[in-house]
Amino acid sequence: MTNNVLNIHDIDERAHTMLRRFYGYSSFRPMQLEIIRSILSGRDTIVLMPTGGGKSITFQIPSLMMDGCTIVVTPLIALMHDQVAALCANGIPAATVNSSQSDSDNRTIIEAMANGHIKLLYISPERLLADMPRWSNDIRINFIAIDEAHCISRWGHDFRPDYTRLSEIRHMRPDLPVMALTATADRLCREDIGAQLEMKNPALFVSSFDRPNIDLTVLPNPGTRQRIDTICSLIERHPFDSGIVYCLSRKGAESVNEALRDRGYKSEVYHAGLPAEQRQKAQNRFKSGTLQAICATVAFGMGINKSNIRWIVHTNMPANIESYYQEIGRAGRDGMPAKAIMFYSMADLITLRNFAEQSGQSAINAEKLKRMQQYAESMVCRRRILLSYFGETATHDCGHCDVCRNAPARYDASTPVRMAMSAAIRVGQQAGASMLVDILRGSARADLMARGFNRIKTYGAGHDIPAPIWNATLLQMLQMGFIEIAYNMGGRITVTDYGRRILMSQEPIMLPVPEVYTEHRTKQRKQPKTVITPDEQLLIDLKKTRTDLSAKLGIPADMILGDQVLAAIVSAKPVDFRTFAGTEGIGDRKAVRYSLPFLRTIRKSLGMTPPQIASPDITLYLLKREYMPHEIAGMRDIKQSTVYGHIARLIDDGKYTDFDRIVSPSQYKLFVNTRNADPTGYIDQLKNRLPDGMITLLLAIDRKYHDKTD
Ligand code: ADP
Ligand code: ZN
Repeated sequence: MTNNVLNIHDIDERAHTMLRRFYGYSSFRPMQLEIIRSILSGRDTIVLMPTGGGKSITFQIPSLMMDGCTIVVTPLIALMHDQVAALCANGIPAATVNSSQSDSDNRTIIEAMANGHIKLLYISPERLLADMPRWSNDIRINFIAIDEAHCISRWGHDFRPDYTRLSEIRHMRPDLPVMALTATADRLCREDIGAQLEMKNPALFVSSFDRPNIDLTVLPNPGTRQRIDTICSLIERHPFDSGIVYCLSRKGAESVNEALRDRGYKSEVYHAGLPAEQRQKAQNRFKSGTLQAICATVAFGMGINKSNIRWIVHTNMPANIESYYQEIGRAGRDGMPAKAIMFYSMADLITLRNFAEQSGQSAINAEKLKRMQQYAESMVCRRRILLSYFGETATHDCGHCDVCRNAPARYDASTPVRMAMSAAIRVGQQAGASMLVDILRGSARADLMARGFNRIKTYGAGHDIPAPIWNATLLQMLQMGFIEIAYNMGGRITVTDYGRRILMSQEPIMLPVPEVYTEHRTKQRKQPKTVITPDEQLLIDLKKTRTDLSAKLGIPADMILGDQVLAAIVSAKPVDFRTFAGTEGIGDRKAVRYSLPFLRTIRKSLGMTPPQIASPDITLYLLKREYMPHEIAGMRDIKQSTVYGHIARLIDDGKYTDFDRIVSPSQYKLFVNTRNADPTGYIDQLKNRLPDGMITLLLAIDRKYHDKTD
């Protein structure tokens, strides 16, 4: 196989070539290259990366570097179609086999795969298990990539029994490496994946789950009016983008939708109580970018792979941090700034408490709700809370959540914090929160004395701090990631490794002054924007161009060019084909297909004449990127003979000399010999013996040689 003969250096170089050629990116994100190397070396590989982290490239690029086809297992047919469409838009041959297509279509795809024409095949687990044993031996499989791998775990929030049967693949084809990918942050579930897939010594890659581009805000105690106003102002600021409004109930979703439509915005409603066609229609309109908002219950989102969702509003607090994180994670997958605003009210809390109590797992759900509430009420950086919830340590405040922006007053909390951690450790991490506070305050409660907690050094050391302040401080410590609560052991307080490092260090610990009865922080009023800068106007124009193209071609807007690419265009302002093609995020195929309309927009905005792109120059660009004439023809939707004609002209003009890559010595010899033997009839004679149109090129090469030798 190709990968066996390549050394690391070659692998890195080829991987970069693929990244530039097909995706138009100049560098890998952290860990991507390591993951690619791992699977290319044949090792089972587990990849845990947040949504939008860039997982897809880590199995797509290795596949492009190998001879065969990679099988991608994924649960939802809707997602398969989107992913295949996105790959094809980048010029990567991909297909899906599934029950929504006819048997004959599915058969054609399998044949194409046997002929080596498909690099990635998307398929559901049940279909793979049923079909694979019947596939012909001609099909070369590189490896199996299992996307949404958390579906294999009963611990996960999206367990799918079919996934558990995937280990059968291992028994069928023990030679195939397996790559499991997921964006789940749930630890138990992570551990389950390797075991369930019977992985042999897998390489594990865990990236940070931080999504720094998502700006977090919580707005307490909203009225209906404030909710709607906030959503409207988001739409106003992003008129050509879309966002999701998550509501707790179907009725809530409907009434927000109505309010938005009343005000003239393009909005649809989506919840499980609607007929399937209506849901589908709303979803399609959302994906294609024609909606400004979709008002939905949590039923919406699983099958959504839209990269440019710019904002998410929760009109009510979600039931737990996992769901919240997953929902806001749908925003800004392209890495561009996105906003997540959550409203939070006492009424939500009461409803959610009732839900939790009535659920089968009331204790766990109540606990999860409590953590969600702590997030909502937090006075420390919200991102720190999210990350520490998922077991990650954030050592800095993020700077782009509402708490960081309206930073509360801080004080040096070194003494009480170290005192509390020290007490927790001295009692062998056996005390719960209220016991710990009583120890610190020197309470004489019976069970405290009975357990001998009064004999530790810190007993009573914090008697001058009132209990509510201690409680608030412990909460802050939890949110900072200094301590954890062991829910499975009666809520005992344990000190994290990070907390222990803090305990040992001399650094002052600055915390917000705990205000036990806080007035709600005054919100900054957003200044209404009146002036639009030229760059902002260009971005608006580019989005319009994109929307028009999207309607014309029937392709979702973000599959034409993502928002991050439009931003790159605004800052680079390419005015000719070459610079356009060199813009970050524009792969070769997209450069060729879309340069004209976008260049027209850019040049117009700069007061320049419309673009003139000579067709042979585009061919030249692709030749220099090592495409062959038939590939260029396919990519540009022109005849191969036209491409040869271009090359002939380029040779005549002295712009291209590397033709021995395109014409083999035997083809050239055949041409020369036939012509020498029959100087008048050779063209007819060669017609069927050389690719269509190659003679034009051979003649040009010949002219060149004569020029030189004469
Ligand atoms: P995931 O599958 O992890 O949710 P994707 O693979 O869809 O994430 O990638 C999210 C976005 O990041 C996509 O727009 C993708 O093109 C972009 N991306 C991925 N890798 C890179 C890279 N190396 N440089 C720039 N953008 C990248
Ligand atoms: Zn913050």
